[in-house]
Amino acid sequence: MSTPVRFTLPESELPRAWYNLQADFSEPLPPPLNPGTREPVSPEMMTAIFPENLVEQEMSSERYIEIPDPVREILALWRPTPLLRAVRLERALNTPAHIYYKYEGGSPAGSHKPNTAVAQAFYNKEAGTKRLATETGAGQWGSSLAFACKLFGLECTVYMVKVSFHHKPYRGLMMQSWGAEVFASPSDRTEYGRKVLATDPDCPGSLGMAISEAVEDTVTSKNTKYALGSVLNHVCLHQSVIGEEAIKQMQLAGEEPDVIIGCIGGGSNFAGVAFPFIREKLKHGRKYKIVAVEPSVCASVTQGELKYDFGDTAEMTPLLMMHTLGHGFIPPKIHAGGLRYHGMAPMVSHAVKLGLADAVAYPQTRVFQAAVQFARTEGILPAPEPSHAIAAAIDEAIQCREEGRKKVILFNLCGHGMLDLASYDAFLSGKLTDD
Ligand SMILES: *Cc1c(COP(=O)(O)O)cnc(C)c1O
Repeated sequence: MSTPVRFTLPESELPRAWYNLQADFSEPLPPPLNPGTREPVSPEMMTAIFPENLVEQEMSSERYIEIPDPVREILALWRPTPLLRAVRLERALNTPAHIYYKYEGGSPAGSHKPNTAVAQAFYNKEAGTKRLATETGAGQWGSSLAFACKLFGLECTVYMVKVSFHHKPYRGLMMQSWGAEVFASPSDRTEYGRKVLATDPDCPGSLGMAISEAVEDTVTSKNTKYALGSVLNHVCLHQSVIGEEAIKQMQLAGEEPDVIIGCIGGGSNFAGVAFPFIREKLKHGRKYKIVAVEPSVCASVTQGELKYDFGDTAEMTPLLMMHTLGHGFIPPKIHAGGLRYHGMAPMVSHAVKLGLADAVAYPQTRVFQAAVQFARTEGILPAPEPSHAIAAAIDEAIQCREEGRKKVILFNLCGHGMLDLASYDAFLSGKLTDD
């Protein structure tokens, strides 16, 4: 074996604490506001839909928060996840760059999302919650939460956007296999859903509508709370295990990354890989270039505005200070369903504002070229979302070739694409376009 390609940590190296970037921002993160009064939201308001222990985490600026043992025991089913060096991709690109990727696709649900689903299910169980309600678009989040709820003995109700429910039956079946109940949204289970169906019986649904149904279900039911798979501070916090492991694994590889890349939908997998490196940057003056990659047709950071906006379409959530395309923006139906969100995690937006990270946007045809090049060299079929990060990593490596200099590139491969083959079909048969 000439070049080592796989850097793994033993189970004992699974992180013992989550890292909270809120502790290290040079300016405090602007708080969420009550849309009626424009005053900061009180913890009491948030406990209408979230358990107190998670509200406390959401508002915490403690630097490290201990990961409870029952959470670590479940994470240990697939963590620490491997770090790999993409030597075959490097050779195909004929680049002096070294390309590393952290692979989160080996979790039971096939993405990074169980990292927070397990934590959220645990804290709800502790708080006496009996059932969690949530929404899901393409189904990555719904399947992760269904899995986590089953392991902690909670019931789980998922409102899945109706078009996805019919076009992508496999994720719905995963949720049902893990014991969740799944409803195509808009549904006749909520007043909001019935109202929409009365005016438009064939409504295809949207993430905004599904959020409204899940929140209504939560506030009108006993012992039921709501769970969100991205955007919020506590979700970014739970994902920090990715970056904490990657720091140790880069040391095992004997290299320091020059560039760290992640895709951004709501911002959580990017936060997960990048925030612990941002801590190193702030504390030890490291000069990492940190890049968030978004789809060019839903480019909240590169084309949106940084301002207070609603997290959902129906204006039911608090106002969040974030990069946004406007809560009425309906993203085109690109194949990277997980990146179709009008806003951005406030913590990611704040990091960009403070100059700690940059953002770039990519069109989906370029993204799928990168996905196929990656699959044909490294083997893993990536999900369309992290293929945005792959495209940016490839471009960095090509630039290294042109400038004749070596850089160490690290990206987060946050999910596999085995349930996204219809999108590969569209690309391979030449039907995929940029509009
Ligand atoms: C949900 C999802 C995303 C987008 O969410 P982030 O919070 O931005 O990470 C990206 N990739 C995959 C595989 C997902 O499931």
